[in-house]
Amino acid sequence: MYFGYDVCPKCMNTLIEREQSMEDENDFEEYSGKYCLVCGSKLVLACVGDKRIDNTLYKIILSEISVSDKKNYIEILKKLDIDISLEELKNREIVIFEGSAVDIYIKMEILDNAGMKYTVVPKFPFARKIYNQVCFCSKCGGETVQKIENHKEYIKKGFYCENCKSWELYYSLNRLQLDDTIYRLKFSRKEIDNKTDSGAKSELLYELDNLSDIKEQGDEIIILGKAEMIYDILQKLIAMNVAYDITPPFIHKINKYREFDDTLIEEILESNKKYN
Ligand SMILES: [Zn+2]
Ligand SMILES: [Zn+2]
Repeated sequence: MYFGYDVCPKCMNTLIEREQSMEDENDFEEYSGKYCLVCGSKLVLACVGDKRIDNTLYKIILSEISVSDKKNYIEILKKLDIDISLEELKNREIVIFEGSAVDIYIKMEILDNAGMKYTVVPKFPFARKIYNQVCFCSKCGGETVQKIENHKEYIKKGFYCENCKSWELYYSLNRLQLDDTIYRLKFSRKEIDNKTDSGAKSELLYELDNLSDIKEQGDEIIILGKAEMIYDILQKLIAMNVAYDITPPFIHKINKYREFDDTLIEEILESNKKYN
């Protein structure tokens, strides 16, 4: 079971536990729908862990840094209410702060923003999320919105500023990755064995050897899987002209199979650039 904690991205003063725990750490929505009681900003997911915050105390230890950096550090630390002299900073491993998970989380966010290097002991057991940094626009300071943009072959999803018409953060997912359907694909082993040797055939045989969800009933091969994996198999079956049966029907366009060579690798790299 996973526990999620919200933070107010403006006040950055405390962590508030989500009402619902989740089976998977990725199941938490970015926004809980709750607002900060102090400033009214939307609370945003701060961190997720497989246990609740308890009263463990954590230490922040500064990493070894150059003398010139140390002078900058003193200024930054002052803003965090941590008063440390240059003399004290000369110690190799200085503990600059000790506190609860909540205090440590907030200090870590500030130290990271300032580019300071440090370690936390014991290891901070929660996965920190970046949403508190992207829910405000870095250009105009206004609140961003969560936006999904539909393109033919992919979906762009992230945090968008309506005012500046620009993305603060986004990631792209192609339609195959988004398809959660489990397909059932069936074809004949004998038919494959009888085909003349080709790049498609050897790649297919290799893939079949490495599949976990594969059943063989007599001559029949039955594969259960999601779109991405099924796509790879189908592409080769079509290239080899092998008869197959799939349920439910495969809705994605299947590009012609091509052997994996340098030109293909270059094209894949190009198209990845386009998506990112
Ligand atoms: Zn607030
Ligand atoms: Zn903006």
